[in-house]
Amino acid sequence: MSFIVDAVYFIAAILFILGLKQMSSPVTARRGIIWAGVGMVLATLITYFHSEINHNYLWMTLAIGLGGAIAWATGKKVAMTDMPQMIALYNGMGGGSAAAIAAVVLMQQKEMSVTLQILAVFGALIGTIAFSGSMIAFAKLQGLMRKTYRFSGQQRVNLGVFLVIFIISLYLAFSGTSYGMTILGIFFVLALIFGIMMTVPIGGADMPVVISLYNAFTGLAVGLEGYVLGNPAMMIAGIVVGSAGTLLTQLMAKAMNRPITNVLFSNFGDAPSGDAEEVAGSMKEIDANDVAVMMAFAEKVVIIPGYGMAVAQAQHKVWEMSKLLQDRGVAVKFAIHPVAGRMPGHMNVLLAEAGVPYDIIYDLDEINEEFNTADVALVIGANDVVNPAARTDTNSPIYGMPILNADYAKHAVVIKRGKGTGFSGIENQLFFADNTRMLYGDGAAAVSELIVGIKEL
Ligand code: NDP
Repeated sequence: MSFIVDAVYFIAAILFILGLKQMSSPVTARRGIIWAGVGMVLATLITYFHSEINHNYLWMTLAIGLGGAIAWATGKKVAMTDMPQMIALYNGMGGGSAAAIAAVVLMQQKEMSVTLQILAVFGALIGTIAFSGSMIAFAKLQGLMRKTYRFSGQQRVNLGVFLVIFIISLYLAFSGTSYGMTILGIFFVLALIFGIMMTVPIGGADMPVVISLYNAFTGLAVGLEGYVLGNPAMMIAGIVVGSAGTLLTQLMAKAMNRPITNVLFSNFGDAPSGDAEEVAGSMKEIDANDVAVMMAFAEKVVIIPGYGMAVAQAQHKVWEMSKLLQDRGVAVKFAIHPVAGRMPGHMNVLLAEAGVPYDIIYDLDEINEEFNTADVALVIGANDVVNPAARTDTNSPIYGMPILNADYAKHAVVIKRGKGTGFSGIENQLFFADNTRMLYGDGAAAVSELIVGIKEL
């Protein structure tokens, strides 16, 4: 039987790898998710036949039933705009599960090689940090928490807590089976606290980097505990998720022009003291007909979608409008900022769903030079990713982040509902610029008006 169990774990692992491979393109992503899901179902079911299950069938079935029912119900209900929170939550659950497995292994105090003991402790540490850190990320994305909490000397306190955890980790890893349950408990509590303390000061443009970092942590923790248990499905799934998360973290940090250490330890020392720059000027409103004329007679229009387009689910209307402009000979391009929306690739997914061809969708590096020659930059529900404060205001929470140069276009038109700020909660200088006009309204409704306006010309 043990051969069959191992073989099924191996098949599950292959399905995870093939599934992930297919997730790299929007065209095959849906199939990839199904394959990986089948792998997960296989791995879960075959575990009932594992020799070390100790007849805990009732508990297993209860846990699977309860977890599956909650995931099914929430997965069915969740709005596309709430996906990032959901991902943070599930990611945290993965880290927490790896930590729980490590806790059981360590509580059993079985004789293990030093290597396995080190891996078990390390997995426990990063799994626990990923759990509590992801819960804070969830609370921030859900709007349950203020964006950042900082106090003077915060990073020193964090460093102190980390050093204590590190010393306890060494003790647990090298003391064989002679450690007590109290010290093990202290280790987990401190790791939970550290995850919380590490995440509360981070906000604004750095959140996506942190979320992908915790994703990497979760994968690594699962992989390590898989190694400790000798479970190939956990090992491979963990390694795949861990390396994908690490690559994503690097990409996001590079896109934000921030070394990862800068994201995590940027306020080493004192809390920032300066105030953000005052924004001068006024916002100038425009109506949809004037914007329709402006775009219909333009040579080049660059569209910048943001979180608001996702909220309004305006992507289909945006593509309909773009086709009308193309029919009139206007060159239409889409500019995607790496952190636009609330999850990596958010805008790409929405545009792909609406059928926008990939060859008119450009990354920040590819398009930024082109704003100088664009007649209109149409910003739809984006805010932070076009805020020029990132270039100039050293006190701004988004300072240093590369932005899309909408302000360099001949005209910028911003569609948003009112005076609401973006995720980082700051004022946007672009909205007050001389060449910017505000088209107030819900993203989908405003673009519908533009469609009517263009058709009437
Ligand atoms: P922002 O969050 O900066 O701004 C979105 C704007 O959309 C708001 O100012 C809001 O203004 C407007 N809006 C909201 N609803 C609607 C609607 N129905 N119709 C029209 N407009 C609407 O979005 P960006 O995409 O520019 O930036 C993303 C931000 O999120 C960055 O700070 C990024 O760091 C952060 N983030 C990104 C993650 C990622 O992985 N991509 C993850 C976590 C955070 P108003 O209320 O006036 O309408």
